[in-house]
Amino acid sequence: MKITYHSTRNKDITATASEAILNGIAPDGGLYVPDEIPKLKVSFEALARMDYAHVAYEVMKLFFTDFTEEELMACIKGAYNTDKFDTEEITKLVEADGAYYLELFHGRTIAFKDMALSILPYLMTTSAKKCGAKEEIVILTATSGDTGKAALAGFADVPGTSIVVFYPKHGVSRVQEKQMVTQKGKNVNVIGIEGNFDDAQSAVKAIFTDKKLAEKMKAKGYRFSSANSINIGRLIPQVAYYVYAFSRLYPKQINFVVPTGNFGNILAAYYAYKMGVPVNKLICASNRNKVLTDFFETGVYDKNREFFLTSSPSMDILISSNLERLIYEIAGDKTAAFMKDLKEKGKYKLTKEMKEKLGLFVGGYAEDAEMSQAIADLYKKEGYIIDTHTAVAAAVYNKYKAKTGDDTCTVIASTASPYKFSRAVLNSISPEYDKKDDFELFDELHKLSGVEIPEAIRDIISAPVLHKTVCAKDGLEAEVVRIYKL
Ligand SMILES: *Cc1c(COP(=O)(O)O)cnc(C)c1O
Repeated sequence: MKITYHSTRNKDITATASEAILNGIAPDGGLYVPDEIPKLKVSFEALARMDYAHVAYEVMKLFFTDFTEEELMACIKGAYNTDKFDTEEITKLVEADGAYYLELFHGRTIAFKDMALSILPYLMTTSAKKCGAKEEIVILTATSGDTGKAALAGFADVPGTSIVVFYPKHGVSRVQEKQMVTQKGKNVNVIGIEGNFDDAQSAVKAIFTDKKLAEKMKAKGYRFSSANSINIGRLIPQVAYYVYAFSRLYPKQINFVVPTGNFGNILAAYYAYKMGVPVNKLICASNRNKVLTDFFETGVYDKNREFFLTSSPSMDILISSNLERLIYEIAGDKTAAFMKDLKEKGKYKLTKEMKEKLGLFVGGYAEDAEMSQAIADLYKKEGYIIDTHTAVAAAVYNKYKAKTGDDTCTVIASTASPYKFSRAVLNSISPEYDKKDDFELFDELHKLSGVEIPEAIRDIISAPVLHKTVCAKDGLEAEVVRIYKL
């Protein structure tokens, strides 16, 4: 069965999988969604016997139906191997304190973004070939900290592509920033912006849908695409690890707890549910920027609120782009009007009937103090150390479990290595650590956790800073014009 894609804002704007991957975002500013979410074709017993690459194939082949088996397998084999991941399993399940932590950070940049961004460049270049696109693909990326580095690592020196990453200059961790500004490669550009992730993402989306700019790009032999989770080439590969995790545990039902920012990771869990994974609850965990918690409670999405910088910076987001795909599931044709309201008034309100369709989701949030407590408690109980984002999820899950008594088998998406946020992680265990410099902290974390210092950390310790450009929050387009001489 062939799956085609269409815009969440207009059913008549359609694309094949490879066109959707290549375009990144639909021309009307909507997000591509599949006409139908396909059901898994093999049993969980069979999936349980497969390695990660084969599970990924079983998932992706159902969505990327215009890829041949050879093409898709080549993409998968290029991405999920021990050159790019530090474990043959690709992702690990660790049981601790009554839940399973699905460690999604064994890729090159030690955050879960590698799970999808290790394969996206393969999917993108294969799609370009299939579509006969001759232009150089320009990847424009807004990052809250982790996508940037994972995309840079994925696209660096990939022929036929170049990449520009915009990150909030004052909104990422030291390690995140250092990882990005030391990136090597002839085709990479990294720019700090004087603004937050939402500013970066809105500006990038505006550039994507600017027809005049697209024409200028075309005349120069370029075309834009996206490495953000608005691209289905990123979203679909993420579905695979939820199917994989379930197949390793195979309980009656399962809860997934996902530390959420742009709503990509948890939407992938929802797609896994639609494919046949028997999900009991999807627990959407937020930090102090709890716009999603309020949304699931009230049915009102309202971004008009104070924005906070927290110790889980990759979740410091008030406009969760991928929520649009979930809204489309429950609101259909009304989606475009809601998104217009969001843009113009900063808010929209679901009808009662629509809200009732969201029963699978539970929203919850944790303040930084609760997050820190979760890190310290888990360390004391189990000797297991989690990063700040994962700890937001753990804290939210603990509160949920205490409140509901739900004892369904639960998997918590562990989205980053604690090394990426060593200072905040170690400060949670003892304030004494704050006196030490960053490099000492890596050694301390190694002593406490017994986990080797990852190559990603060792690499940046001595690497020179190569990217120093900073621009105003309304200056992104000018940077693109400068880089590509438009
Ligand atoms: C990106 C990110 C998140 C949020 O994921 P979304 O798909 O944006 O919801 C959570 N934790 C970490 C470490 C991340 O890098």
